[in-house]
Amino acid sequence: MPPAGRDFFDVRMRGFRDRAEVKDVFRLIDERVQALEAENVSLAAAGGRVLATDVRSEVAVPGFDRSAMDGYALVAEETFGSGPYNPVELRIIGSAMPGRPFPGTVASGQAVRIMTGAPVPVGADAVLPVEAAEESAEILRIGEAVAPGRHISRRGEDVQAGQVVFGQGRALRPQDLGVLASIGVATVAVIRQPRVDIVISGDELLPVGAKPEGWRIVDSNSVMLAALVRRDGGETNVLPLLPDRREVLREAMRQCTADVLLLSGGSSVGQEDHAPTLLAELGELCVHGVALRPASPAGLGFIGTQLVFLLPGNPVSCLCAYDLFAGRAIRRLGGRNPELPYRTEVMPLTAKIASAVGRLDYARVRVQNGHAEPLAISGASILTTTTEADGFVLVPADSEGYPAGATVTVYRYDR
Ligand code: AMP
Ligand code: MG
Repeated sequence: MPPAGRDFFDVRMRGFRDRAEVKDVFRLIDERVQALEAENVSLAAAGGRVLATDVRSEVAVPGFDRSAMDGYALVAEETFGSGPYNPVELRIIGSAMPGRPFPGTVASGQAVRIMTGAPVPVGADAVLPVEAAEESAEILRIGEAVAPGRHISRRGEDVQAGQVVFGQGRALRPQDLGVLASIGVATVAVIRQPRVDIVISGDELLPVGAKPEGWRIVDSNSVMLAALVRRDGGETNVLPLLPDRREVLREAMRQCTADVLLLSGGSSVGQEDHAPTLLAELGELCVHGVALRPASPAGLGFIGTQLVFLLPGNPVSCLCAYDLFAGRAIRRLGGRNPELPYRTEVMPLTAKIASAVGRLDYARVRVQNGHAEPLAISGASILTTTTEADGFVLVPADSEGYPAGATVTVYRYDR
């Protein structure tokens, strides 16, 4: 692969001299991109965020033995031998409610009415469910026996004091927030979300919301990229569309202060493709041209510590280059699993996928009856190939493709 800082070769109107292998681009990203620093956020804002440290509970949950049923707290042994035809009778001496414990002690011959969540009174060692008894005039008639400990949720059964409830790197689920609240946590240390600026350039482009007209097309990439970045845990800032003017693009690149800059368009070898030479001029162009179809004009580099991705304007290539490279970096910055976020499934192919050795192919497939059917590829500009597809197959660089019937891994477009 071209190492960082190689002599830069201006490829405009000449074509790529060499293309980096995808695996080498992955290695570069993995070596140079680490998780951002931690920040504290309230639990209310912590959903989906990634823990920067382990969280250990200082307390036991529940903090007391509590009833798991509505019923009667009693001494289990006293119910032994009771049944529908020889009910045992106990005297009800009071009630225990959640938040309002019974203040006394349960002794032999006694029971306390108890509701789910209420502390089990001293002396009682089981709860008889309300269905298994009848009460009248403060006398309880018991129709079945209960074992000691029945229907009591023990102190620490949910969480033990000192236990690590969630490890560093956990992306917090909604129910995790509930557990964190239950152990008395108010704020958590999470990895800061990467800030991502999205700059789209192209003289032919109209802004999102406009109708395509004449020879002008509407920018598809800003909305797609913003949704991808949010999916990967980043915060996005989409800048106004830029024309293909070197000075304008240079200014936008210089002004950017985000952690990551995504540049869409102008990344290839055309006359108006200024992004690669500008990146080499303002910082470091590490990769330009990748052995990848589509998305071979992709590139990446740095301006200071800021990561810059050159994404091809063709929407399918843009999606592919984002997912493989920019997304990987954004996921790493946010402390997330860097691999593709899609669910994978292994299944046979209905028809062959051809691929050149030395190049990784991103082949869209439809999934039907447990089989992957390759879509007739009509070029990187046909974005509906990605909306009609159910997923994609990656054909590795060392492969000539897959014959019909081969078993392949399909990445499902499920997020
Ligand atoms: P470029 O990467 O700028 O050479 O563009 C390659 C192709 O993608 C051209 O046909 C462009 O018109 C098209 N294109 C560039 N940017 C966008 C965009 N943001 N949305 C949709 N198509 C685009
Ligand atoms: Mg362009």
